[in-house]
Amino acid sequence: MAEKVALVTGAGSGIGRAAALKLAEDGFAVGVLGHTPEENHETAKAIRENGGTALELVADVTSDDELQAAFDTLSAEHGRLDVVVANAGINGVWAPIDELAPDEFDKTITVNLRGTFLTIRAAVPHLKRAGGGSIVVISSINGTRTFTSPGATAYSATKAAQLAIVQQLAAELGQHRIRINAICPGTIDTEIDDNTDIRHPEKSGVRAEWPNGSVPLTDGKPGTSVQVANVIAFLASNQSDHITGSPIWVDGGQSLLR
Ligand code: NAP
Repeated sequence: MAEKVALVTGAGSGIGRAAALKLAEDGFAVGVLGHTPEENHETAKAIRENGGTALELVADVTSDDELQAAFDTLSAEHGRLDVVVANAGINGVWAPIDELAPDEFDKTITVNLRGTFLTIRAAVPHLKRAGGGSIVVISSINGTRTFTSPGATAYSATKAAQLAIVQQLAAELGQHRIRINAICPGTIDTEIDDNTDIRHPEKSGVRAEWPNGSVPLTDGKPGTSVQVANVIAFLASNQSDHITGSPIWVDGGQSLLR
């Protein structure tokens, strides 16, 4: 039986992979969940090579049955669950509102919002059984502080809704000693471009002049997945044991400019 157990969704690449590796380094047995088995395997392999414990869990976060089965498998293997990182997400289609097709809107909502809801819903009974725990939701600067990314209507809606869920549930889950917080990254160098389709940004971009540069702290350089993972690890740990219902922007100040 592991002493502490975490599950990370979308753990096959980018922020999720970095979070899985960091949590394993911090002593968690980690459920590496994603819908692409090869990607899960690569992350799990890296954890094991570092001396950590990983369980590969294939599930699509839009499927309640697949998620429930994955949480049950992890729980059966390690006997408990302490931390959940609801990270899986896509940029989807970013387009002017009158060019954004309803099924494109639905796809982003389904993966990012329904996926987050189903992940938390499946996690809570296990966290209650463990006597409490920590849920970390990966939102974004888009939809929380930034509303000027051309065509990002569907994406921003999901990221705003994730923060609403975090604040709503912080109160509801407090009695079970379950904390829930959001991380709102700015531009982070990951593989998310593979799940991004930006159409006609010139039509939906805001005609305004921003201050020079886009990330004050780094002269415009994007952040890294490891920088986000370090904050995830903080929210997963007892170091943050009086923090719940809070967003943390990890963006080098990017969202304060636009
Ligand atoms: P990423 O490298 O593309 O990682 C996303 C992961 O989620 C991938 O492993 C992907 O698997 C998985 N995934 C996608 N749809 C899934 C589904 N239906 N079921 C299960 N897994 C699924 O992107 P990332 O940048 O690390 O993004 C992680 C989170 O950070 C997202 O919620 C994103 O909105 C947020 N975020 C990112 C940035 C940024 O600049 N990168 C900024 C703010 C917020 P496949 O690759 O196999 O599809």
